[in-house]
Amino acid sequence: MATSLLRIPPPQGLLRPLAVPERLLLGPGPSNVPPRILAAGSRQLLGHMHPEVLQVMDEIKAGIQYAFQTQNRLTLAISGTGHCAMEAALLNLLEHGDPAMVAVNGIWGQRAADIARRLGADVHELLKPPGEYFTLWDVEEGLVRHKPLVLFITHGESSTGVLQPLEGLGELCHRHGCLLLVDAVASLGGAPIFMDQQEIDVLYSGSQKVLNAPPGSAPISFSERAREKMLRRKTQPPSFYLDMGWLANYWGCDGEARRYHHTAPINSFFSLREGLAMLAELGLENSWERHRANCAQLCQGLRDLGLELFVKEEKARLPTITAVSVPEGYDWKEITAFLMDNHSIEIAGGLGPSVGKVLRIGLMGCNSTSSNVDSVLRALQDALRRCRRSRL
Ligand code: PMP
Repeated sequence: MATSLLRIPPPQGLLRPLAVPERLLLGPGPSNVPPRILAAGSRQLLGHMHPEVLQVMDEIKAGIQYAFQTQNRLTLAISGTGHCAMEAALLNLLEHGDPAMVAVNGIWGQRAADIARRLGADVHELLKPPGEYFTLWDVEEGLVRHKPLVLFITHGESSTGVLQPLEGLGELCHRHGCLLLVDAVASLGGAPIFMDQQEIDVLYSGSQKVLNAPPGSAPISFSERAREKMLRRKTQPPSFYLDMGWLANYWGCDGEARRYHHTAPINSFFSLREGLAMLAELGLENSWERHRANCAQLCQGLRDLGLELFVKEEKARLPTITAVSVPEGYDWKEITAFLMDNHSIEIAGGLGPSVGKVLRIGLMGCNSTSSNVDSVLRALQDALRRCRRSRL
C-alpha cells in the first residue's frame, strides 16, 4: 500500500454539518437577513461580465442613488465591507502630504485617522468626547486652523449611538476649499441623508445594517468635486483593487466599454440588489419614520427600566443604534451573555472609547419592529433581575 504523503488530516470540524443557530441580531450589525434577500443570495452563479450581472449592477447603482439621494454618475458598490469603502474613499481622495481633518467622537473617526496616516496624509484630529457631536462652529474652527483638503465625519457613530447633524456642513467645507467625506454605514436608510442637497462629496455605507443584506458589499458615491480632485492626482492610488478609475469603468460609470477588473462577489450583489429593492419599495421616508418610531419606543422602555441613555440630547440619538449606560452594579459582559444564552438575542457592549461604558441595541431595517423592541426590553428586564442576583 502506498504511504500517504499527507501530514495534515482532514479537519474534524469540517466533517460535521455546518452549524448556524437561530438568533435575533439586535446588536450594532449585522442585522438579520429576511428570506427574500437570503433567497437572492443563494441563486445560481452567473459570470461577472454577463449582461444580466451588469444589469444587476446598474440596478444597484440606481438603488444607491436613491438611498443616497444623489445624481452622481460615480456611484457603485465596493466588493468589501464598510471598512473597505472607508479605505477606498480615503486612498482615492488623499495623496501623500495632503492635509486632512478627521472628526473623532468615537471609533470610526479613530479608524479613519489611522487609515489616512498610513496613506501619508497630514492628519489633524478634531476631538469631541464620546456621546457628543460636532457643531458647525467646531468644524469651522478646524477648517480655518488646519486648512484641510478633506474632512471625514461619521453620520451614525455606532460606537456611541450619536447622530451627527449634517445640515450646512458641505457648504461650510466648500467655502473653505475642503471636500466633505461622510461615513453612513450605520445610518443609511435609518436617518435622513441627502447627498446632493447637503453637498456631501463622498458618501459610503454598508450592506449589513438597514439594508439587511449579508456583509461584503458597500455602497459608495463621489461628487463631481471629488472626481476632479481624483483626476488631479499626481500619483496613482496606492491600491489596485480599490482604484476608483478601474472600478468606475467596471461599474459602467465612465462611458467606456466595461473591462474585467476583479471577479465581483456576484451573489453578494444579488443580495444587495434585493436589500436596495426592499428599501425602494418601502420608501425612504417610511423607513426613516419606522426607525424613528421604534427607537423612540425603545428609549422610553429603557428609561422605564431605570436605565440611562448615553446620548443626552434626543435629536442627537441615532435611530438605528441606541447606547445605554451600563447600570451601576452590573457587568456588561454578563448582561450580553445572559441575553444570548437565555433569549437568543444579540446586543453588544461598547466599542473603542465606549467599551465598558455602554450597551448597544440595534434596530435596523426589518429588525426595526415594535415586537423586537418588546422582546429586547423583556430580555433586559430579566437580565437586570437575574444578573444582579448572581452578583450578591
Ligand atoms: N462605520 C460605521 C459607522 C460602522 O458602524 C461600521 C460597522 N460597525 C463600519 C464603519 C465598518 O463596517 P464593516 O464592519 O462592515 O467593515
